[in-house]
Amino acid sequence: MGLTSFDLSPEDVPTHWYNILPDLPEEVPPPLDPETGKPVDPRKLVRLFARALVEQEVSKERYIEIPLEVRKALIEFGRRPTPLFRAVNLERYLSTPAEIYFKYEGVTPTGSHKINTALAQAYYNKVEGVERLVTETGAGQWGSALAAAGAYFGLKVRVYMTRSSYKQKPYRRTLMELFGAEVYPSPSDRTSVGRRFLKEDPEHPGSLGIAISEAIEDVLSDEKARYSLGSVLNHVLMHQTVIGLEAKKQLDEAGVYPDIMIGAVGGGSNFAGFTYPFVYDRLKGSSNTRFIAVEPKASPSMTRGVYTYDYGDTGRLTPLLKMHTVGHEYKVPPIHAAGLRYHGVAPTLSILVNHGIVEPIAYHQTEVFAAAALFTRLEGIVPAPESAHAVKAAIDIALKAKEEGKRLVIAFNLSGHGFLDLQGYREYLDGLLDDYEPETLPIYKRLGRANA
Ligand SMILES: *Cc1c(COP(=O)(O)O)cnc(C)c1O
Repeated sequence: MGLTSFDLSPEDVPTHWYNILPDLPEEVPPPLDPETGKPVDPRKLVRLFARALVEQEVSKERYIEIPLEVRKALIEFGRRPTPLFRAVNLERYLSTPAEIYFKYEGVTPTGSHKINTALAQAYYNKVEGVERLVTETGAGQWGSALAAAGAYFGLKVRVYMTRSSYKQKPYRRTLMELFGAEVYPSPSDRTSVGRRFLKEDPEHPGSLGIAISEAIEDVLSDEKARYSLGSVLNHVLMHQTVIGLEAKKQLDEAGVYPDIMIGAVGGGSNFAGFTYPFVYDRLKGSSNTRFIAVEPKASPSMTRGVYTYDYGDTGRLTPLLKMHTVGHEYKVPPIHAAGLRYHGVAPTLSILVNHGIVEPIAYHQTEVFAAAALFTRLEGIVPAPESAHAVKAAIDIALKAKEEGKRLVIAFNLSGHGFLDLQGYREYLDGLLDDYEPETLPIYKRLGRANA
């Protein structure tokens, strides 16, 4: 029997993050100030984010040292290194000549990769004298990761949670409060933005866009508070490269190098964290690995969006980022993979898509849940609905390899477990899931273009 598990010891947790900025085929266009339309003044950004994080956002250093305290936190509290498994039962079931490996981030305290950046962000804020971190959350995966990191480093955490999730996902709220965070349903009566929406509708379901606006208003009213974001930005993606750097050692231990790497994309952080250390090899010409980025058809920023400057939020408070986007006015349908319900993707990932280095594909949620159900029965792990997008793509590619008789090495990132998403699985089993595919996207209307 071959090995199915490739373990590392704590000493193998990376000492440096990999920063892709110096290796990209072109420069990342600068974020623009929503008021002036000119590149954002970094002095404005340090009122929102810890100074060290603003520096990392634009750093051209290829490897950035992980502070000892962060590395210790990743090991002692974040439970790194995480395992890499070979999905032998899935391979056997598909009778594919392909080998399928997956990195599993579900073993962390809050069940997904998000703790990797939460710990780093909490650390830098703590050493800079910040007392409170404020953020927004939809489903609650980011909010719970930041709450856990705040508990570890002794920082207060305040989370604006979209009211619909606050009501429908009580377990994530409980988890955040268990870690000591304050959680408010958004829109709330604590901010002027929130009060405005509550006046319109006292039971307003909220949106990530509104929750971001509330978090920013909150931070601007408290000198000791800073804002924290769980994806999209360069420094967040860089913090996630611990995933790919570990995977590199583990695949090496398995005696293979991946032909195809796959990850699900919301804002792009777990995909980037898993693949960028391997994208580096391809950019410098030492590999031909293909990189597949999977998104929902309900939120098709890479497969149907436009590469342009767009706001990060619905309320137009954030800087504009040049990215693949379906438009900040787009109302993302209520799919269960709430972590993928974002209108844009990271600027660095957008550039790699433009250059054909990353290939985007999209699926409907019903086919994704079916793949996840099969994976659960064969491999014993319930994937988060977000991660299930990568599972679906891995299965499709393994079946194609079978048709073509190719012995491909496939590696995908299983970004989290689905134990707090069983409602979605319930609806899948009861045949109640809806598949959404927009006919037109607001971004095309605004650009005055025919829909593609
Ligand atoms: C948030 C989340 C995602 C999507 O976010 P990215 O920044 O694109 O990684 C994917 N999987 C899980 C489990 C998540 O919690």
